[in-house]
Amino acid sequence: MKPHTYGPYGGAYVPEVLNRPLADLTVAFDEAMADHSFTAELEHILTHYVGRATPLFHAKNLSQVYGANIFLKREDLAHTGAHKINNTIGQALLAKRMGKTRIIAETGAGQHGVASATAAALLGLECTVFMGSVDARRQEANLFRMRLLGAKIELVESGSKTLKDATSEAIRHWISTADSTHYIIGSALGPSPYPRIVQTFQSVIGREIRSQFYERFFRHPDAVIACVGGGSNAIGTFSGYYEDNQVALYGVEAGGYGIASGQHAAPISEGHTGILHGFYSYFMCDEHGNIRDTHSVSAGLDYPGVGPELAWLADKGRVEYISVTDEQALQSCMELTRHEGILPALESSHALGALQEVVRRQGDKSHIVVTLSGRGDKDMGILQEMLSGE
Ligand SMILES: *Cc1c(COP(=O)(O)O)cnc(C)c1O
Repeated sequence: MKPHTYGPYGGAYVPEVLNRPLADLTVAFDEAMADHSFTAELEHILTHYVGRATPLFHAKNLSQVYGANIFLKREDLAHTGAHKINNTIGQALLAKRMGKTRIIAETGAGQHGVASATAAALLGLECTVFMGSVDARRQEANLFRMRLLGAKIELVESGSKTLKDATSEAIRHWISTADSTHYIIGSALGPSPYPRIVQTFQSVIGREIRSQFYERFFRHPDAVIACVGGGSNAIGTFSGYYEDNQVALYGVEAGGYGIASGQHAAPISEGHTGILHGFYSYFMCDEHGNIRDTHSVSAGLDYPGVGPELAWLADKGRVEYISVTDEQALQSCMELTRHEGILPALESSHALGALQEVVRRQGDKSHIVVTLSGRGDKDMGILQEMLSGE
């Protein structure tokens, strides 16, 4: 079976023993999506459990600040507080359909771990989450939440003991357990067919935006904005407007201390092509392909690579990329909280941090949709530290 690619990006650069499980997954996924009983069950859970459709909110106060018409896609109101649940429910259903009894997942801040443990609890699957020991110490509340949900946590002590290492360890573990176990990857990356699976399950975001906006205005927005970690909320958002070239698509990467500092997580703004975790894309790496350390105030954007489809959309010029620094993101987080009474996740605050630049490019009075990927409750500790000037 030929692995799926996006231009030169994607593929499946994996040890030979994973070829079979990936081929089985590809067939099972395509069959499931063509089976009405599967898609109907998924839709039922998304409606009655996740709480979809999430609202598209006209942020009038924020609109006044920027002189444009700004709308927020409220993924922060989805169950567990972010878009990640759209993907974990889809993949957990797929795992059950394939006869698997167990799922594994990697997690950085713990958001994907919580969303995976939640889906496992709902659907009666065993769940093990791989988490770097440094991240585990930083994210104790989510660690406890996963345990409450019945998940087992495997602490990863290799490398930098963070998300990148947890992902490597999850892949290694899957090699020996694929018969009974499905690996739920948390973003639109990894070896084929994962980027396509995650894009499909997250495309509900873009479909909803498209119809919600059109029903109200009988037209499309001028631009949509989403933050880019691995790229799942962005690709889900953008896929609603691939074919509508009049809708500008903006992806926002984590600028950390600024691109010039080298301390960021913006592999498209400043990175090289390379291979990690089974796929070819842009990574934070040197010209020899050695992966560099990343930095972002938001744990969910702190991954050294980007999904292959977003890399290809960058090369084609269909998606424009902007980077937003830690400081800008914190300011935007405070701004939305004060003006609209919505405390956004620090990841989502990066998308908001691009508003000034996007309004400058699109013009006053333009209609702009920002995907608010998650809520900020999880970031309270970091906000407290940063705002007290530590
Ligand atoms: C994980 C996460 C992200 C980044 O992941 P993507 O796959 O790039 O969407 C963004 N926002 C929130 C709230 C997250 O939890």
